[in-house]
Amino acid sequence: MTELFLTPKLQLLLPLYKSFLQNEIYPIELGVITKPFRQSLPAIKALREKAKAQKLFAPHLSFEEGGAGLNIMEFAQVSELLGTSPLGHLIFNCNAPDIGNMELMHQFASAELKKNYLHPLMAGEIRSCFAMTEPEFAGSNPVNMATVAKREGDQYIINGHKWFTTAADGANFTIVMAVTDPENPNPYMRASMIVVPLNNPGFELVRNISIMGEAGEDYFSHAEVRFTNCSVPVGNLIGQEGQGFALAQARLGPGRIHHCMRWIGICERAFELMCKRAATRKLSDRKFLGQQQIIQAWIAECRANINAARLMVLHTAYAMEKHGAKAAKEEISTIKFFVADVLMKTLDKAIQVHGALGITDDTLLSFWYRHERGARIYDGPDEVHKVSLAKAILKSYGLE
Ligand SMILES: Cc1cc2nc3c(=O)[nH]c(=O)nc-3n(C[C@H](O)[C@H](O)[C@H](O)COP(=O)(O)OP(=O)(O)OC[C@H]3O[C@@H](n4cnc5c(N)ncnc54)[C@H](O)[C@@H]3O)c2cc1C
Repeated sequence: MTELFLTPKLQLLLPLYKSFLQNEIYPIELGVITKPFRQSLPAIKALREKAKAQKLFAPHLSFEEGGAGLNIMEFAQVSELLGTSPLGHLIFNCNAPDIGNMELMHQFASAELKKNYLHPLMAGEIRSCFAMTEPEFAGSNPVNMATVAKREGDQYIINGHKWFTTAADGANFTIVMAVTDPENPNPYMRASMIVVPLNNPGFELVRNISIMGEAGEDYFSHAEVRFTNCSVPVGNLIGQEGQGFALAQARLGPGRIHHCMRWIGICERAFELMCKRAATRKLSDRKFLGQQQIIQAWIAECRANINAARLMVLHTAYAMEKHGAKAAKEEISTIKFFVADVLMKTLDKAIQVHGALGITDDTLLSFWYRHERGARIYDGPDEVHKVSLAKAILKSYGLE
């Protein structure tokens, strides 16, 4: 945390989140992530109720919607704190992909969709997912997709194959990206976003994909899914037909700030574990690990990287707040790849300092190492962001 960005609201709220994390979440988190996730659902539900009772639930929502009424910069700092536990965002109902879906539906969904899907989602009664990426096409250029939604009377008939639909297992509905106008000369106007309830007979969860040896379940999973003659009312369209990519951009802008601050939270926790280990692990009777210069250099470098990452993200959140996501496009690209890199480097060094213990499941580090490797890939692979940033910079030097 940095005092520079503390608002009166945060001065009040951050200590409350901190003590909830320390007293309620840190003591159970390792137990939760080392057993099948569904076994912990009752404990998670109980903590969600406690968070509601303490008025800490869904901090990203406005006061009227039952949230804390935070602006982007304020929520970013809460997000960092919640990121220090793998369960933080879930317990406070501001976890991906639900938070992105909430923001999207809040802005663009019809009153009927809000009533049936958004409101129960905001209240934490249901979970959701987002199905855009397809195994057969490069997700980094999603204009190429085979999933189609054909209008027949007052229904869309959806057919397609998606994967990496995060947290589909146990979700109540998905927002699916499907082509509705294949002939449109502008490829960015061909697709739309449509809500599909997952109890629809045309929806199939094929499998939870095994990732680095672990398929996971429920919230901690990524599914391969199929839509076969999946029929939903045309009223399930979000926004207008052909707006799918514009909506995807709107969904991703604040999402990258949330992810980056969550990653910084992970970095802080990994850093703390690393320093504690370095300060207490004895190499000999007279020497602690932290007295080795190479370990000291890693600690100093990690500290500098995390501090730089935080300032960069908060600056981006400020630019977005003030000028909008479009104007902050370059800053958003910059934080996406920079912070993902800081995250990977910090986790790697923290594991190394722990030695063999670092790759066991006796600390949080190996969980994050497996689960967060995807940070370099999702929300646009790092390379795509680097290329787009460099192009924008070079354009200002006259290179088209
Ligand atoms: C943990 C995780 C969760 C996810 N959750 C969801 C979800 O909930 N819903 C959903 O729809 N999708 C989700 N995804 C999918 C994600 O959006 C895609 O993986 C991502 O868009 C990249 O697409 P791809 O995997 O097809 O890689 P590809 O597009 O095949 O790219 C492969 C690699 O090529 C390189 N590359 C690509 N383009 C360029 C370029 N222009 N210049 C240079 N190099 C390039 C990059 O290194 C990239 O990693 C998730 C992915 C992960 C890892």
